Amino acid sequence: MRIIPMEKLKIERVCQRCSGTGVETVVIDGVSTEISCVGCGGDGAMESPLYIDFTAMNAKLPNAFKLIFTYQIVEVIDATEYAALVDAAKDGLRIILSCGVVDLIHTGKIYLNLMAIFGSSPITKAAIEAL
Ligand SMILES: [Zn+2]
Repeated sequence: MRIIPMEKLKIERVCQRCSGTGVETVVIDGVSTEISCVGCGGDGAMESPLYIDFTAMNAKLPNAFKLIFTYQIVEVIDATEYAALVDAAKDGLRIILSCGVVDLIHTGKIYLNLMAIFGSSPITKAAIEAL
């Protein structure tokens, strides 16, 4: 996994209090005085965390709820139970594993197929249920 430094997730925006000048005019006891901007500390800009709204993006993605990498499935397959599978089950499993990433939501086709493939394989079935 690639870690993105938090500095890169920040943006700098012009201080609205001083319009980026870093200087703010205040009136003290009726006298107009220029001071270092209280809003930005005289920098003229403020650093803000960058917030990304994924709502619009998510609406365009397929309805995936529990994405997992298929290697995670491979890791929980019991070798003895795999060896006992009939060839048709092994073929079906191979198709699922070749996807790379699958949606393992428990009402989904991938999950239900895995439950059928490992229906008589209690160790692997329980491990996949727990993913
Ligand atoms: Zn300012």
